Amino acid sequence: MTSPVLALRAVSKHYPGGVTALYDVSLRIRAGELVGIVGPSGSGKSTLLHLIGTLDLPSSGTVEVDGQDVSSLTDRRLSALRGSRLGFVFQQFHLSDALTATENVATGLLYAGVRRKDRRALAVSALERVGLGHRTGHRPHQLSGGERQRVAIARAVVNNPALVLADEPTGALDTANGQAVLELLKELNRQGTTIALITHDRDIAASLPRQVELRDGRIVSDASADQTVRFPRPRTKDER
Ligand code: ADP
Repeated sequence: MTSPVLALRAVSKHYPGGVTALYDVSLRIRAGELVGIVGPSGSGKSTLLHLIGTLDLPSSGTVEVDGQDVSSLTDRRLSALRGSRLGFVFQQFHLSDALTATENVATGLLYAGVRRKDRRALAVSALERVGLGHRTGHRPHQLSGGERQRVAIARAVVNNPALVLADEPTGALDTANGQAVLELLKELNRQGTTIALITHDRDIAASLPRQVELRDGRIVSDASADQTVRFPRPRTKDER
């Protein structure tokens, strides 16, 4: 069996002030999966995203990205892992208005050791993959919201990452554009890209092949076409 692109083992996260945002979370994502991580506000989605994205470290437990235990890496190696093996898509796109679509996408290759002229060719081909081959010279303000998110998706996949993390990728879009972006992510997944999509929207999650549901910092269910696993909620003090 291939090793998972992501393995969380018994991960907890405490914040100063006595807040525990994640309790004992274990999760594996394998190459080729498209997984929705769904939960209401405050359930721990952003915290989980930060840990998976190697932007923060767990208080206990281990996070392995592409076979590497993130707690064992120096800051420099962690940045290299993030830059070369992960792709990020955010709700608010996070594109630079000073750069063209091609240049924005090429920033996804800055840490990959790709030569400048090759960066450009790869960026154009990533834009073609997301249906924006005719918009390569446009700047973000000359593009619609849906097109901007496509540019951000092209930037996330240009380096062939092991895992793309999409944080509420349709949250800033109207229904039609949101649907189109979701379809694009599904199409990229069919072509082999592994994606974790974080959302509060149950309908979006329900349309994905696998859904992991977070509640109060715990995974309460993990469902795919093959099987659904529900995890018992720990009893509260009053119930003991
Ligand atoms: P979600 O993204 O699902 O809304 P979060 O991961 O942002 O959930 O938050 C989970 C819990 O952790 C919440 O109770 C939140 O208030 C708390 N929390 C998140 N970030 C911090 C922080 N930096 N410091 C203290 N508490 C935090």
